[in-house]
Amino acid sequence: MLFVVQEADKPQPLFRCGICDKPIEHASLGAVVFPRGLEPGERYRVLLVHKGSCNEAALPIVETDQGPPVSMDLADYLRRFLSEDSGERTAA
Ligand SMILES: [Zn+2]
Repeated sequence: MLFVVQEADKPQPLFRCGICDKPIEHASLGAVVFPRGLEPGERYRVLLVHKGSCNEAALPIVETDQGPPVSMDLADYLRRFLSEDSGERTAA
C-alpha cells in the first residue's frame, strides 16, 4: 500500500508490503503481483510486496484459474507508470 510520512521539511512516500506490512525501503526491493490472463482494458488491484519470501507468499493469494500470477519488479512498474504514454492508457 502507498502511504506518506511527514518529515521535518517535506512529505516522503512510503510503500508498505501487503504481506508483512513492513516498509519497502527501495523500489528495487519490491514487486507487484497481479493475475495472469487479464483481458485488454481489464483492471485489477495489484498486491505490492517485497521480493523473495513475501512475493512467494503472495502467489497463492492472487492465483486464478488462469495459472500462477505475474510478478513485476516495482521499479519496472513505476517506470511504466512514469512513461510518457501512461496517461493515455490510464485515462480511459
Ligand atoms: Zn514483505
